[in-house]
Amino acid sequence: MKTEHQRTALITGANKGIGKEVARQLAQRGFAVFIGARDLAKGREASEELCRAGYEATFIQLDVTDPVSIRNACGTFSQKADHLDILVNNAGILEDHGETIVKLNPELLDRTFKSNVSGPIMVIQDFLAYLAKSPSGGRIINVSSGAGALNDMDTYAPAYSISKTALNAVTKQFAGALRNQKIAVNCVDPGWVRTDMGGTNASRPVEKGAETIVWLATDAPQHETGKFWHDKREID
Ligand code: NDP
Repeated sequence: MKTEHQRTALITGANKGIGKEVARQLAQRGFAVFIGARDLAKGREASEELCRAGYEATFIQLDVTDPVSIRNACGTFSQKADHLDILVNNAGILEDHGETIVKLNPELLDRTFKSNVSGPIMVIQDFLAYLAKSPSGGRIINVSSGAGALNDMDTYAPAYSISKTALNAVTKQFAGALRNQKIAVNCVDPGWVRTDMGGTNASRPVEKGAETIVWLATDAPQHETGKFWHDKREID
């Protein structure tokens, strides 16, 4: 049966870490959540975990670097829902080989851009028709990083930092392009979060890392668009 009246949310990379927690919090708030994950077993497990807890969750296989996978994910989504209220572009990679920009391997830069920049662009493009049908106005949240902030950038992981700066630019571009369709597009720095990517020394639990993303998906005013947020405040 199609989800017609329920609010819907698709989260990419939702099988673990921040994405999984965002999915849990949105499910808890009554959304029918779509768990985007590239790995079949991991994605199914994350989705079943939410279903066992009494929430509405559906697994959608989605590799953000693969246009065919995104198109197929769109097809699967369309069998279950006729509109998308929230898209969280959370999937991302960080490969740190200790190199600075001076010795940056262009292949690493390409790989990182495919996941962290082109991926979100393609996902937005393919799901746009469903976001445009959101009765309350669609919302897109791109999970960026403080590492992408131009005014606070150090030399750490240059490919990752540059990709997140580019994702912030992507956010601005889409915000401008979709303003007339009443679709809000924002990006978030979740802080340093204890996940496989953030490591065990990170200062924040996933609940805190998910907080501003969930706020932008739910309680933030719909007119807020094209901004970069940290702890519910706009940053540069
Ligand atoms: P994790 O490494 O724990 O999770 C990343 C998720 O992205 C995994 O589900 C992974 O899937 C998925 N993913 C990676 N590549 C793809 C792909 N091509 N297609 C689909 N899914 C993919 O990281 P976090 O939860 O920490 O990070 C989530 C987001 O938050 C990222 O965008 C990251 O850059 C950002 N962020 C994280 C910070 C932190 O301190 N943790 C700080 C600032 C930003 P799989 O399990 O299959 O690998």
